[in-house]
Amino acid sequence: MNQLKPQPTRALITGGAGFIGGHLIKHLLSLGQQVEVIDDLSTGSIENIEPFKNSPEFSYTVADMREVPLLAEMVDRADVVYHLAAAVGVRLIVESPVKTIETNVGCTETVLKLANKKGKKVVIASTSEVYGKNDTVPFREDHDLVMGPTSKSRWSYACSKAIDEFLALAYWRARGLPVVVARLFNTVGPGQTGRYGMVLPSFVRQALSGKPITVYGDGTQSRCFSAVDEVVHCLSALAETPEAVGQVVNVGSTQEVSILGLAEMVKKLTQSDSPIKMIPYEEAYEEGFEDMPRRMPDVSKLRELVGFAPEMDIEQVVRSVIRYYRER
Ligand code: UDP
Repeated sequence: MNQLKPQPTRALITGGAGFIGGHLIKHLLSLGQQVEVIDDLSTGSIENIEPFKNSPEFSYTVADMREVPLLAEMVDRADVVYHLAAAVGVRLIVESPVKTIETNVGCTETVLKLANKKGKKVVIASTSEVYGKNDTVPFREDHDLVMGPTSKSRWSYACSKAIDEFLALAYWRARGLPVVVARLFNTVGPGQTGRYGMVLPSFVRQALSGKPITVYGDGTQSRCFSAVDEVVHCLSALAETPEAVGQVVNVGSTQEVSILGLAEMVKKLTQSDSPIKMIPYEEAYEEGFEDMPRRMPDVSKLRELVGFAPEMDIEQVVRSVIRYYRER
């Protein structure tokens, strides 16, 4: 008897030319999936999709996601949509508040509406920023979100992503659309640019070029950095886990490092002579800028659902970023 071969999963990645998108493409192709990307290259780069251009399982379109008929066709072809397109990076958010809100809310609304027409699964990339000023560390998914005032533009990012989460969960509850919300914590690795203010690539570039390593505030604020390869592994595992549907899930590492500690680590591993320079927040961002002193995920839900969580040693990740910049 003729047995039909199972069709490979077809994934659509919005914002697939971004840093995380590029790594997700690689991972999904390695699983034998077909991958289609839409990206307007506003913050993404063609460099991130260059390695896959010749793969018959890969295709991409440079376009604005708000070109609805085009996106509708792409969503129709997909089994699962990874919605990564967003305005990212604190600097970008402070400098372009209108774009942040419009992109983050408008694009998510469009994706969910189109996915809902055909009942396609959507994995929404949210952010640990939504926990805001909550100081109950580690952050658990059911903790309160504590935002600052609307007069401070940094909070527009957290609020716009929180709206995305509400909307995704509303589609699940009211319309039965299978959605998963992944709250990504600080994600780092080769390919990330420091252009939008992200700390690790900025430090590595500064150290390698002999410029001062700029630590904002007093450097006692801490973060947990996870390797992008492990993060994309979690995203695809969440997409394949039926129990993850309708859930909000933290995706991050629990290894904590202070920003000053990170600066010292980068300086040591690059053997750089760069001085470490402290810069007040007002100078780095805007008057009255509020930073989070600590940000650490509780990853028990992630472990329960998919069986693992990012755990790569921070020094190893920093070394991989240094290698990436040295090779360029
Ligand atoms: N930061 C810094 N120097 C830089 C860029 C960022 O000290 O050149 C700090 C920033 O103020 C924050 C931390 O590093 O406390 C992480 O910043 P990033 O923008 O990478 O991510 P966030 O956790 O703020 O989303």
